[in-house]
Amino acid sequence: MGPRPRVRCDDCSFEWFGATAAHGLRIVGACPRCRGRLEFLVAGDEPPPPAAADARDPAAVLGTPTSWAR
Ligand SMILES: [Zn+2]
Repeated sequence: MGPRPRVRCDDCSFEWFGATAAHGLRIVGACPRCRGRLEFLVAGDEPPPPAAADARDPAAVLGTPTSWAR
């Protein structure tokens, strides 16, 4: 068994094996060769879900203050 790719392009089937490459691709969000969709094969390499960026408001995570602050 050889090393498994960390990221693969759905469109051109190019594969990346390095953690550094996976990190860069996560930021870019698209295949640098064909702009295709990337498939992240290693847990933790995939981009965070959009909801995580909106988690700055405690009430949005924990509910309204009256439900958790007593
Ligand atoms: Zn591609």
